[in-house]
Amino acid sequence: MNIQMQVCGLIILLLILYFYKRQDTVGLYTEALFRRALYTCMGCLVLDILSVILIVNQDRFPGLLVRAECKMYLVSLVGTGYAALVYACADVFSLTKMNGFVKRMGFAVAAVGVVIFLLPIHIYCEGRNVYTYGSACIATYIGAVTLILVTLFYTTKQGNGMNPGRSRAIRTWMVIWLVSAVIQLLNSQVLLVGFAGALGIFILFFELENPEANIDRKTGFFNARAFTDYVKYKYNSGEEVAGMLVSLDNAHSSDIRIEHMADIMSEVTELIRRIPETKKFKTDDREFSLVFDNTEQMERAYNMINSRFQREWLEEVENITPVSLQPYYVMVPSGRVADNADEMLGFLRYFRAHIIDNPESHVNVIDENSVAKKKERDAMLATIVTAMEEDRVEVFFQPIYSTHTKKFVSAEALVRIRREDGSMIPPGMFIPIAEETGLIVRLGERVFEKVCKFITEHAPEQYGVEYIEINLSVVQCEAKSLAKCYSDIMDRYKINPAFINLEITESASIVMRKTLLDNMKALINYGVSFSLDDFGNGQSNLNYIVDMPVHIVKFDRDMTQAYFVSEKARYVLQAATDMMQGLGLKVVAEGVETAEQLRELERLGIDYIQGYYFSKPIETNQYLDFLKVKNL
Ligand code: C2E
Ligand code: MG
Ligand code: MG
Repeated sequence: MNIQMQVCGLIILLLILYFYKRQDTVGLYTEALFRRALYTCMGCLVLDILSVILIVNQDRFPGLLVRAECKMYLVSLVGTGYAALVYACADVFSLTKMNGFVKRMGFAVAAVGVVIFLLPIHIYCEGRNVYTYGSACIATYIGAVTLILVTLFYTTKQGNGMNPGRSRAIRTWMVIWLVSAVIQLLNSQVLLVGFAGALGIFILFFELENPEANIDRKTGFFNARAFTDYVKYKYNSGEEVAGMLVSLDNAHSSDIRIEHMADIMSEVTELIRRIPETKKFKTDDREFSLVFDNTEQMERAYNMINSRFQREWLEEVENITPVSLQPYYVMVPSGRVADNADEMLGFLRYFRAHIIDNPESHVNVIDENSVAKKKERDAMLATIVTAMEEDRVEVFFQPIYSTHTKKFVSAEALVRIRREDGSMIPPGMFIPIAEETGLIVRLGERVFEKVCKFITEHAPEQYGVEYIEINLSVVQCEAKSLAKCYSDIMDRYKINPAFINLEITESASIVMRKTLLDNMKALINYGVSFSLDDFGNGQSNLNYIVDMPVHIVKFDRDMTQAYFVSEKARYVLQAATDMMQGLGLKVVAEGVETAEQLRELERLGIDYIQGYYFSKPIETNQYLDFLKVKNL
């Protein structure tokens, strides 16, 4: 009997079923459809084997029964094709659209089934060779091949939003099926089709439906991939969804040590395991995401987790100080907050990053207000991107006055974005967003390039300018490529590096100190000098200044202004100036707005003055005019 292939196929499917059943599944629609395809294919193989057995022993069974069984097998073959199509469609259509399509196709398949039963079938059996032929078989071929072609069409159609991995796996199955059908048509003794169906299920299982791929090994919760799929599925099926993210990354604590953290994580995992009414996902190293059917369930879960964090985290081990710890929560209530899955996932991700920036609050419940803020930020992000594309990023210059030479020997380059209507967006509105998204790296390069271009084109040294100061963001300083990139730009514009002074802030010297220092050293070797910007704005630490290879220190506007209102501030500024100058550094006072302030700071011995008293930041041409009038 030539049933080896079918038996092999059946064994493969039984193994898949065994592995599948051993794992927890997320509860996605596609999982149900996959199971349906698996069972249909198994049924088809069983009927295939049974039909061969019946044919070989046909003298012992009524002819009608044998033929009816053979026809049932043929119908199940079309049924498997239909199950494959339905599975493929889950990604192609929305659920409501899919239901309509699947129903129509279902009627057509049922009609083909009836036709197969009505048409005659012939049986060939000689020794070990067994097969069927006749118009019922031809109808089966037409039905199955049509289904395969429709599936291929939908999975190949561009832009249908289908995950490329999914469509590839399904297409492979369809092609295997088509090839085996052609082989069987040409050589009817090779009964390949049933086995090819099993192969298809095998491919789907390994590529897409292996439940293990959705599981986080350590906790046994579902993983980030399953989380995305599940949220999409919930929205797609029109169900209510509430989502909560619990993050212990950068969690607030008086004293967390690494070994502590592992214990805390395993206790939190157990705590979360006990939460009822939710699907649990481990979406990052120290992060859990929970999906609920409504906000009330989510609130109950929050209370449950939070009550544990109300107490201090006491270790059983002796001599360990109790740790008080607060995770971050981001909650998206069900209802109108997020209209679709992508929006909800975006909110969770965005507000998680955001809450880390804002360590005072542990709980961020997303409401219309926060959504509006996020939208505003997204709009600003788009504005930055288009401004860069359309070259509407501009550099303004604010002249800097030397109290020694009484000339404007320098200027600070300050970035602006020109709106389409010609008005200007100040950097305070877009620099933080550019930093958060990493866009600052490209933006900073653009500014630097524009300054270099200005220097080569206008040769400001002819008006007595000695150097230009350009701001560097913390994020730029974290990039190892900074020094190379900036020296390449200076090479390209043939800039004398002594004309460039880069401003860094103290936050840059705290974050990624090593990379920053490497960058600074390389650039100093190249010939560039550095300033420490915003000194006195609250984070100042004198140790850093002593250690940093800077040449100039710039007093923040608040510090300059405080000098004129508080006696304490006056002593601090005086002492700081003495100390800096003692270290051989030059000092700039920013934010000088009146003649009286200028006189007082000059008397104090401040080297350079920058402020509205002389000029606000101005456009290139205005700056050149300013220099011509004031310096020549
Ligand atoms: P900053 O580097 O401390 O620049 C000085 C800021 O103080 C400028 O604001 C300047 O217009 C303002 N200012 C100067 N003198 C006075 C004064 O007398 N009174 C008042 N009220 N303000 C004064 P601007 O241009 O809005 O820039 C704000 C901040 O944006 C800058 O502070 C800097 O941190 C950042 N920024 C500007 N351009 C760039 C850039 O190209 N790259 C990076 N990374 N940051 C930049
Ligand atoms: Mg600055
Ligand atoms: Mg400053």
